[in-house]
Amino acid sequence: MAAKHLMCRIPSCISSAISTPLTSLKPFYHTQQFVSIIRPVSTACSVGIQESTNRLVVNWKDKLTDEYPLVWLRDNCQCTACFDQSSQSRTINFSHFQVNQKFKHVATTKDAVEVQWEDGHKSAYNLEWLKQRSFNQKEQQCWLDANKAPYSTWGASFFKNIPMLDFNAVIQDDNTLLDWLHTLDVWGVCLFKNVPHSLGQVGILAKRVGFIKKTHYGEEFSVQAKANATNVAYTQGYLQLHTDLPYYEYKPGINLLHCYIQYKGNGGDSLLTDGFKIAEWLRENDPEIYKCLAETRVTWTDIGQENGNKFHKIHHAPVICESSDGTIRRINYSQPQRDSHMAVPIDQVENWYRALKKFYDMALDPEYLVTFKLQPGEMVTFDNLRILHGRTAFGEHLQGERHVQGAYVDWDEARSRIRVLKANKAANNTGRCG
Ligand SMILES: [Zn+2]
Repeated sequence: MAAKHLMCRIPSCISSAISTPLTSLKPFYHTQQFVSIIRPVSTACSVGIQESTNRLVVNWKDKLTDEYPLVWLRDNCQCTACFDQSSQSRTINFSHFQVNQKFKHVATTKDAVEVQWEDGHKSAYNLEWLKQRSFNQKEQQCWLDANKAPYSTWGASFFKNIPMLDFNAVIQDDNTLLDWLHTLDVWGVCLFKNVPHSLGQVGILAKRVGFIKKTHYGEEFSVQAKANATNVAYTQGYLQLHTDLPYYEYKPGINLLHCYIQYKGNGGDSLLTDGFKIAEWLRENDPEIYKCLAETRVTWTDIGQENGNKFHKIHHAPVICESSDGTIRRINYSQPQRDSHMAVPIDQVENWYRALKKFYDMALDPEYLVTFKLQPGEMVTFDNLRILHGRTAFGEHLQGERHVQGAYVDWDEARSRIRVLKANKAANNTGRCG
């Protein structure tokens, strides 16, 4: 962790309630460590085939045992006929593949297991490679967690330690870039300070990850009050808590919002709530409401015209979307962009409204809602699949300037960057230690 670049700050709106001196506050994501998937180095003391299960059994010197199905071993043969090193891709023609694999002979060398198959093909599996692909459930979970960090939810009280990084550091230093993306993955929010006072900074940051996710509002978009606004965000009114673009099946994953000019009077404050926190609470404490929100299909819509391009987007999805492993994957919520069509059985309608009201009232509860005013030179970044955001009203009749520039980045690009940065870091560390 690039500790020298880390700062924390108390949003001005809640600073009076906090007596802890700033210097003693630690960014709360410091408690989260990167998960290592490397097991201690140990070599095999014996290998054998368990014919009743068609598995290779490897007994390691550290007394652990791993089993590998023969079909999986044959499918993952690393020889040049079966695997292309330059593209790191399997090249076995699956139309000729036999699921019921038979072996002839198995043996170990100093660092590999060699299998001779009944059809004459020979495979060799590096022991370290095998160990990293253990079918042990704990090892599998460890590997899954290393690929996508498990999230930690938060309420308003945790937000006094909001993760904050120096913008110049994230642009120049890969360790800070990794800190930022990991923080977003775990906590769903991170602030930057010292952002240069010019437009285009969101694009510069997006390039550090990969590229901007373009939507019908463009690549870099300006959130400013304007006459005949195409989106309620482009007004001076109170912007209710929402997630952006729920009407996209491929909803942009990360929001970057740079405060270029802030309204000088009262108002224009940012609102944030951790939607996963609300969903987790409901699952635990009000399972009927949770089930209703996770199972009722909602239609999200955006109709209009931007830069001469007419659009009509529709996506059907519940407010709470789960992954196949039961973790919460995506929150959809936007009052202006919920369609009036409701393709659900009529007797479920009232219950669903009751559930939605409970969800939204909780999101506005001071126990979960954070309010703070972004200052020029600051940028807030957050997970759009998770965090509900909004804005208090400011000014009147298009008087009083406020200008926030935004852009999106996809989670696929961000998580890919995390893996590449971690691999680079590991390689550099190995290099230094010889
Ligand atoms: Zn092969």
